[in-house]
Amino acid sequence: MHFVDAKSLLTRQNGMNLYRGCAHGCVYCDSRSTCYQFTHPFEDVAVKRNAPALLEDILKTRRKRIVISTGSMSDPYQPCEAELQLTRRCLELIERYAFGASVITKSDLVLRDLELFDRINQNAKSVLQMTLTVADDGLSRVLEPNVCTTSRRYEVLKEFQKLGIPTVVWMTPILPFLTDTEENVRRILDCCFDAGVKGVICFGMGLTLRDGNREYYYAALDRHFPGLSDEYRRRYGNAYEIPSPNSAALWRLFHEECERHGVLHDPEECFRYIADLPERNEQLSLF
Ligand code: SF4
Repeated sequence: MHFVDAKSLLTRQNGMNLYRGCAHGCVYCDSRSTCYQFTHPFEDVAVKRNAPALLEDILKTRRKRIVISTGSMSDPYQPCEAELQLTRRCLELIERYAFGASVITKSDLVLRDLELFDRINQNAKSVLQMTLTVADDGLSRVLEPNVCTTSRRYEVLKEFQKLGIPTVVWMTPILPFLTDTEENVRRILDCCFDAGVKGVICFGMGLTLRDGNREYYYAALDRHFPGLSDEYRRRYGNAYEIPSPNSAALWRLFHEECERHGVLHDPEECFRYIADLPERNEQLSLF
């Protein structure tokens, strides 16, 4: 871990990354791809120490309230957050200025800030976005080695559900020959429905591989599933999109089950839901 000063914070989509790099070690992580031009090891997390100051400048001057998201490129609740509390300090600012907040994480450390999310949700809106993609905890420990297992993440979703804080699940990626089974997809969806999620984001039954993350992924396959990387190379070469051979059947299952449970499952609809923050009715708030 090392500290840096960021020049800017918020993307055009109102997202921010407080850390650069990640220590969770997911074998399929796209963020470690060479196109992101890391000049330090991906696990040597850069901490944007001036992020709260940059964020406060934005919150002070923005007239229109928005939902600010974090976690698209780096988990905001990775291990060093327990001590640094950078995400927490940003959430406290978001609460103070009555903006909305949304985090994408795989970590149960998010429970530390549960009450804060509750207050933000009551003032404006908060949404927890959590990734569930490997239903079997043993396999989750292999594929996502440094973060809590899927069953623990399901418990986290239930805690948010108890307080009525909306949640959205990212069911991505689905890994050919590892997690692309009907059983895996059904078990994840059952967790989602039971936890009352508003939406499930899935871009297709497969994964993407780019330079950098492809080599890392194949090295992990070679360690844990000998011979499987050869099968990938044979089938997919250097393709970016790596669809599951079971894609059509799994996609149908996903669509039908989400429809049946009234859960959003078009990614754009999910993103609109997350970002939607109705203007406060100042007139009503007088009474
Ligand atoms: S938690 Fe997200 S950013 Fe971190 S290693 Fe896993 S996929 Fe990558």
